[in-house]
Amino acid sequence: MTQRAVPVVLVATSGTGKTTLAHRLVDGPGHYVFSISATTRPPRPREQDGIDYHFLSQQAFEDRVAHGSFAEWASVHDRMYGTPRSELDAAAERGDHVVLDIDIQGARQIREAVPDATLIFVLPPSVDIMMARLTGRGTEKRENIARRLESALDELQAVPEFDYVVVNDDLEECLSDIRGIVERGEAPAPPEQDAEGMRRVIVELLEGEYSADLQDSE
Ligand code: 5GP
Repeated sequence: MTQRAVPVVLVATSGTGKTTLAHRLVDGPGHYVFSISATTRPPRPREQDGIDYHFLSQQAFEDRVAHGSFAEWASVHDRMYGTPRSELDAAAERGDHVVLDIDIQGARQIREAVPDATLIFVLPPSVDIMMARLTGRGTEKRENIARRLESALDELQAVPEFDYVVVNDDLEECLSDIRGIVERGEAPAPPEQDAEGMRRVIVELLEGEYSADLQDSE
């Protein structure tokens, strides 16, 4: 059965390749559009205003919060991020699946505001691979990596709140799983990966290799 177009919320730990997945969904077949969030963080190299994010000053962001312009907003790693209502409204009018690449706090707000939204958690294949992607970016300081690992603990704990769990091991397979969910309501095979097991590995990293970095960031 073809599913009615509803917002598709993708949440993952950093280093899972979620942003690549979101962009590939939009570039591929089917009616997918990317919800362009607003943020107060500065653009990274190669990011473009109005394409990757709407980059706003703190004041401009706060004005929009006061006007109720966001469907959800949250502070992530000390920066503000929000989903403009206009992104959801425009997609709904066109009958497009709007893909939200947002954090766990935002996902919970969307769950409240748009009860029929589809919430999908994207797991990395393993903590090792997640760490390789995180450190391989080369743009993150050790204390930022430690902070992202701390966030990952909370995110992985929230996995049971999600409608579906997919694993981004093979990108094409993961895309196909997400399309199956969104377009046909097909649940993918339950993952072999275990979020609780991943949390234990991350706790070990935070208590061992990254313990000094975590103290630096506090
Ligand atoms: P980054 O700065 O690496 O692009 O994103 C940091 C985190 O903020 C990611 O988990 C991303 O999904 C999340 N994020 C991006 N846009 C939004 C948004 O509009 N709302 C919320 N709540 N989180 C967002």
